[in-house]
Amino acid sequence: MGNKIKLLDQDVVHKIAAGEVIVSPTNALKELIENSLDAGSSSIQVVCKDGGFKLLQITDNGNGIDDDDLPLLCQRFATSKISAFEDLETVSTLGFRGEALCSISHVAHLSVKTKVSTSSTATVATFGDSKLLSTKKCAGVQGTQVSVEDMFYNIPLRLKALRSKSNSDGAEYQKILDVVTKYAIMYPGTFSCKRVQDSQPFVIPAGPPKEKMKRIFGAGVFKNLLDLNIELADGEPGSEFGLKAVSGCITSLNYPSKKSTPYIFFINKRLVSCDPLSRAIRKVYQDHMPKSSSHAVVFLSIELKSENIDVNVHPTKREVRFLYEDEIVDIISQKITKELTKSSDSRDYSVQS
Ligand code: ADP
Ligand code: MG
Repeated sequence: MGNKIKLLDQDVVHKIAAGEVIVSPTNALKELIENSLDAGSSSIQVVCKDGGFKLLQITDNGNGIDDDDLPLLCQRFATSKISAFEDLETVSTLGFRGEALCSISHVAHLSVKTKVSTSSTATVATFGDSKLLSTKKCAGVQGTQVSVEDMFYNIPLRLKALRSKSNSDGAEYQKILDVVTKYAIMYPGTFSCKRVQDSQPFVIPAGPPKEKMKRIFGAGVFKNLLDLNIELADGEPGSEFGLKAVSGCITSLNYPSKKSTPYIFFINKRLVSCDPLSRAIRKVYQDHMPKSSSHAVVFLSIELKSENIDVNVHPTKREVRFLYEDEIVDIISQKITKELTKSSDSRDYSVQS
């Protein structure tokens, strides 16, 4: 006799799925920052307690959420951003799966305070296991504040595993700060981040990427930053691979660094990891500098034809797949080689003259 197959309870299904979407405080933070950006925010403030495990709070000045939409807010696959599968090809918002808030409501205590411009009052709503639990009217300003408390309180194993990996509050906070600073470089608005016990937040004022990098990495990095720009019109060599543009900043060969800073890549405004590109760029620096001090600061915003990218590879959207990866990595690393050697040639020249 076979084993009896039965459908899992919706609640169990959600909890299993939630563990895949929300894997850590930093990845919850990424989802919440992306929601704020999708809502058109120009100011995003992050407060956390105990590395985000006790509290993760994101306040934005975006569109806000209508009272009518609150019952659907934490339903799985409920989204205001797409309606057909084909929309994924042209989706311009960072979110589209309608899973983040749902997942958070299954692994933490979630409350949302929000106000739209057409309403005179704000609403505070609490959620649990996909459901709206309570609402209350209160005074407030336009925008949304999402508070996530006691993350993974109901998944003790996950909590324990994450906690034992990094044992100091400082290390956890650094990861949170890393996420905030990456988005701050890419997006022009003001970002700030603090721990509850800090009297002042770390503020990254609105401005272009280079100014943000100055604030984040300091003057030493800033004065060695080279601009990197590629623009390919339709029909130009390289454009056949779907590459439209690259813009960013990289440290020059005059900046030997023993400290490794992960390269920052955005593809079509999405924060992604791209190992082949990291490897290729690392090799360029290593070929031109002593290996032990060849760490560079690299920020690249890459624009590809949207029909060439699959954004729906992974629930956390950490990866995207795109066509002609090798060719595109080649074009970018060749350009980096050119800019680096050009700037070091001109330095030699100015020393000689
Ligand atoms: P997704 O972003 O994939 O749509 P989420 O679960 O992250 O799914 O969010 C569900 C919906 O809640 C969004 O589609 C959006 O309409 C609304 N929302 C979430 N966060 C915000 C926010 N900070 N400001 C305004 N609306 C928001
Ligand atoms: Mg989202």
